[in-house]
Amino acid sequence: MVFAYFAERRRERLRAEPFPSTWHATLERNLPFFRRLSEADQQELLGHVQVFIAEKYFEGCGGLELTDEIRITIAAQACLLLLHRKTDYYPHLTSILVYPTGYTTEEERHLGGGVWEEGPEDRLGQTSSQLRALVLAWDAARRGAADPTDGQNVVLHEFAHQLDFENRTADGTPALETHAEYRAWARVMGAEFKSLRRAEAAGAPTLLDGYGATSPTEFFAVATEAFFERPRALRARHPDLYAELRKFYRQDPVTFSSEPVG
Ligand SMILES: [Zn+2]
Repeated sequence: MVFAYFAERRRERLRAEPFPSTWHATLERNLPFFRRLSEADQQELLGHVQVFIAEKYFEGCGGLELTDEIRITIAAQACLLLLHRKTDYYPHLTSILVYPTGYTTEEERHLGGGVWEEGPEDRLGQTSSQLRALVLAWDAARRGAADPTDGQNVVLHEFAHQLDFENRTADGTPALETHAEYRAWARVMGAEFKSLRRAEAAGAPTLLDGYGATSPTEFFAVATEAFFERPRALRARHPDLYAELRKFYRQDPVTFSSEPVG
């Protein structure tokens, strides 16, 4: 606990440090959502970004030379998920490995229900509960930030997985506070996951990316992307899911989204 006390003191100091103006310019240029946040939320986000940048190790891979622009663009999206609550800043994550573009992995991929797929596969991002690393393609991370309403955001997706891991299991349920919250989460997310699976099986069009039907874990990550990128549509078409995510994230993206109305 002594360690926790000093860690928190250190984070307080980091959050209070003046935010470099070049970082601020990058935020305004690369992250259209930033200007739409309230003044208080902007300040909270800047503080989180300071801690995130100081505590996480970024590594350029595949010939990518890391820049502050890359760090800030990724950190600010990751930290959007942390607003309004006590956070330990993705405690199971040490390193963020950034490739210039989509990369190929030989690792097996969990398709859910005990089914694994092996072989090379192109990816834009990846993380797991065992590795303390998160991998991102920089072009996809930048694109996801530049278009905040297309429903696709690889950074939000991968960091939602990290929130899922905070209570140790990758099961699509992040750390909640009470038994009642866990029950409500299981009821709402379970029903929405089943309904996405049914729609996928029937080939029906869905607001949520069909990849969310592969497992409850992917469902939470995909639902997080939709919550921040298509909040109006999600609230209209999946009100229970929207309400549940609004409770968990303690924010209402409809208030700062540039998603067109209607
Ligand atoms: Zn995923």
